Amino acid sequence: MRPVLETRGLVKRYGELTAVDGIDLSIGPGTVCGLLGRNGAGKTTLLRIILGLLASDAGAVRLFGHEASPHDTVARERVAGFVEELRFYPYLSAVRNLELLSRLDSAGASVAPGDALEMVGLADRAREKVRGFSTGMKQRLGIATALVRAPDLLILDEPTIGLDPTSAASVRTLVRRMADDGKTVFLSSHNMTEVAEICDSVVIIDAGALVWQGTLDRLREQAPVAAYRLWTTDDAGARQLGREFDIDIDRLSSGALLVHADDALRNSFVLELARQNIAVRQLEPDISPLESLFAALTGDPAESAGESESQGIPARSEADKVHR
Ligand code: ATP
Repeated sequence: MRPVLETRGLVKRYGELTAVDGIDLSIGPGTVCGLLGRNGAGKTTLLRIILGLLASDAGAVRLFGHEASPHDTVARERVAGFVEELRFYPYLSAVRNLELLSRLDSAGASVAPGDALEMVGLADRAREKVRGFSTGMKQRLGIATALVRAPDLLILDEPTIGLDPTSAASVRTLVRRMADDGKTVFLSSHNMTEVAEICDSVVIIDAGALVWQGTLDRLREQAPVAAYRLWTTDDAGARQLGREFDIDIDRLSSGALLVHADDALRNSFVLELARQNIAVRQLEPDISPLESLFAALTGDPAESAGESESQGIPARSEADKVHR
């Protein structure tokens, strides 16, 4: 199937800095693709180029199979989205803001402002002035602004940042529903759990360059989980057995044991625990395949966790490790 969005050799330089460094990517219709990268990796710059807000120094963007030069609004009529902070008329109501924006939009509105507000859970605040809106409400209003266009490609820069868990979940549901209806969504996020939950594929960039692109399924195959958290009825016995199996086991401040073993070794270990009457109360991956791949491709995960949400880029095992 023809890609909805393709970039070929995209480059953007700011003086000496290459913010986007030869990015080739391709996203198919009816999918959600997550854009991951550490702070300053070049995500927003890339999204701005795709949205036509910024001209690249080299390379091309193709939308729905057609070349889209910078600032070509016709090529972007089926595209909507936002990057970074959102600006509205603070002295106007939410619905009035959307009405004005859709009137200014040459592509014309396809979804009524009231319906777009309903989709993001702001219907009951539609007549309130935006001045009084919280960060999360403005974020949802930004998504509504994009939805008014009924876009076939939706570009979102960290759409759930600043949202409470319930609002974030409703945005995720909305994004997923759009893809199920055949739309394509390309979104940046620092939230790995979110990306694993709603995305079909991911693009990982580091220092402006694409370091990985593929489906979540391929990612899970390529990035097996290296460590598991284990809770047992007899941790001392489990650690003793770990030594006999030559398995590295750490104790975490949470009380869990961190078991470093591949699938085969871990299976044998768990079976032997049971044979020795040590019950496994809980066993779970320490970090998800996505987190593990991200860490491997982009270097020290702890440094990039600055603005992440709690489920974000992990540094957990190191941070809460107490002793061996
Ligand atoms: P974050 O996760 O923190 O939002 P990001 O991946 O979106 O980061 P970008 O905002 O795209 O990163 O920035 C990429 C690099 O380009 C950074 O080093 C940034 O400082 C630089 N940069 C971005 N915009 C400009 C600009 N207008 N002038 C100079 N440098 C810029």
